[in-house]
Amino acid sequence: MRLRDKVAIVTGGARGMGSAESIMFANEGAKVVIADIRREMGEDVAHKIRKNGGTAEFIWLDVTSEEQWKSLLVRTISLYGKLDILVNNAGITGHDSVISTSEEQWDQIMDVNAKGVFFGCKHSIPYMIKNGKGSIINISSEMGLVGSAMGSPAYSASKGAVTIFTKSAALRHAKDNIRINSVHPGPIDTPMLSESSPGKSNKSETVLGLTPMGRRGTPDEVAFGVLFLASDESSYVTGASLVIDGGYLAQ
Ligand code: NAD
Repeated sequence: MRLRDKVAIVTGGARGMGSAESIMFANEGAKVVIADIRREMGEDVAHKIRKNGGTAEFIWLDVTSEEQWKSLLVRTISLYGKLDILVNNAGITGHDSVISTSEEQWDQIMDVNAKGVFFGCKHSIPYMIKNGKGSIINISSEMGLVGSAMGSPAYSASKGAVTIFTKSAALRHAKDNIRINSVHPGPIDTPMLSESSPGKSNKSETVLGLTPMGRRGTPDEVAFGVLFLASDESSYVTGASLVIDGGYLAQ
């Protein structure tokens, strides 16, 4: 088992890529805390893991609340005694252009996607230092590495913030034996993607047309990359950006 006896928190673990990562981690021997604002779906994922013989708990967390992060960490340590892995996966998307994005929408996207990652790192790293090691995986996007005329500029800005925050945090904590990497998915078949481009909208068709592999990725195809970064197999990898995008960024 690739994560035997490790303790992991996965934010946004109630559905989409986060639920795939939670299930894969548990199958590889990790004790998993699923942290999300969707209680029912998160409890279902934890129940499914326990039914299969794994260890998991759902804990309600809004990643934009620093107080809730503090209590999530305290509860995780009291449940499982330590923290080895944090996946900052929770995120929201946007639909508007530069001109049509309101201040409120900008703040909401930046709060969840960028500030949530900052809070997660800020409150997890002290426990990882105590543990003598740790691995943090921040889920950015292909849109966090290049600009896009089709996507939401606020979303791209939030994911770009995650990309560079990850590298700076990795440099700060390399000597603490805490590895911090980002993952950059292309279009992945999750509720987020279907809700942001219902049916076969022109936008989603265009994105697929620009993806060399010509299809959406699956949540498991991203989870396998996250699993590698979470495990000791990636023990010399930090500050890296792992692109999982069907070839989009190779163009
Ligand atoms: P999703 O919408 O299916 O799942 C996201 C999860 O995050 C949900 O369970 C949601 O409840 C949770 N969440 C949202 N706001 C939260 C908050 N404030 N606090 C706690 N939890 C919150 O999305 P997904 O497609 O699985 O996306 C996962 C991550 O991957 C996101 O960061 C997203 O931006 C990124 N991403 C997605 C794609 C894609 O094509 N699906 C591509 C690139 C990057």
